[in-house]
Amino acid sequence: MFMEQDAKLFTVGPAQMYPHTLEVRSHVVPYFRTPEFSAMMQENREMLLELTDADDDAEVIFLTASGSGAMEAAVMNCFDETDRLLIVSGGTFGERFEKICEIHHIPFEALRLGPNEALTESHLNSYNAGDYTGLLVNLHETYTGQLYDIEMIHNFCNRNNLYLIVDAISTFLCDEYHMRRYGIDATIISSQKGLCLAPGLSMIILSRRIITDKIEEKSVNSLYFDFQDYIQNIKRGQTPFTPCVGVLFELHDMLSRIIKAGGADSRVGEVRARCEYFRSKIEELPVHLPPFPMSNAISPIRFEKDIAMDFFTYLKDEKNMMVNPVGGDLGKCSIRVAHIGDLQFADYDILIEEMKCYFNM
Ligand SMILES: *Cc1c(COP(=O)(O)O)cnc(C)c1O
Repeated sequence: MFMEQDAKLFTVGPAQMYPHTLEVRSHVVPYFRTPEFSAMMQENREMLLELTDADDDAEVIFLTASGSGAMEAAVMNCFDETDRLLIVSGGTFGERFEKICEIHHIPFEALRLGPNEALTESHLNSYNAGDYTGLLVNLHETYTGQLYDIEMIHNFCNRNNLYLIVDAISTFLCDEYHMRRYGIDATIISSQKGLCLAPGLSMIILSRRIITDKIEEKSVNSLYFDFQDYIQNIKRGQTPFTPCVGVLFELHDMLSRIIKAGGADSRVGEVRARCEYFRSKIEELPVHLPPFPMSNAISPIRFEKDIAMDFFTYLKDEKNMMVNPVGGDLGKCSIRVAHIGDLQFADYDILIEEMKCYFNM
């Protein structure tokens, strides 16, 4: 069942890993209740605050869970039945926020978007914002590929005094991201997307105001997902429970390299360059892209016929290349090609050639 060693991953997560990450992964996973591990975690914390452009007094939760676990934990720790949330729901990840609120009895309204519909100011303004305490958004809705306008969302939240919770899982390190500039109260990220690490680690970066006003003011009904416990522990560079120690070493290696190579802007520039290269090349093919603003992380290609699964299987079985299928209705005519990970222009050239071959061009 394992992919062959030379399989190319044009997927958004897990992504095509870098050789330096594979090298880190090859070492013995050490014991972690040590001053050395704590010091590394303090550096991970500092580097994440720098790369998300967070305030110095922001805090980082290191959670051993996939991104959905972090979404649920963030909602549970920041809100309860006395809140009322507005959820931008433009695909399956927006729907996940809705489900989380249902399960935890947190009142919400979903701003639902169609598969081709861009989020606009008038969508937001049609809600009486005074009725809400917070807004949840998957800034890059990975299901459709839409990248929402963070400045517009920030202005809406700022005008109406809403806490702003951003699932940035598939936009961090793919598109520009600034917590401080856009008054973001919680940023949720995950190891297997823009960071291109193994799955299992999620991080939530919290503003001081949401810690003071919300998290410290409530006791969450959970042992494992209690942020107060994580906030106490990270002061000494530790987590309450055994974390995914190996992925935290991969993280330290990756963050140090990104910062050394010029920081988030320079990494985003690389992803953008691959994205633009690929999108210019597909202009000759019988495919199109959706009509809304898109993230650099993926190109959500749409075919003229319902051939997406056939094309996906052809690439996987015949060519040892993995592109990202799409679930649900959209999945019949759409696949996603990722631009994160250790991929070169030449890899996209090969993919384009295979696409031409598939279309008998
Ligand atoms: C990948 C992703 C997640 C997390 O999914 P998991 O499978 O739980 O890691 C959450 N939100 C968005 C927008 C994503 O792209």
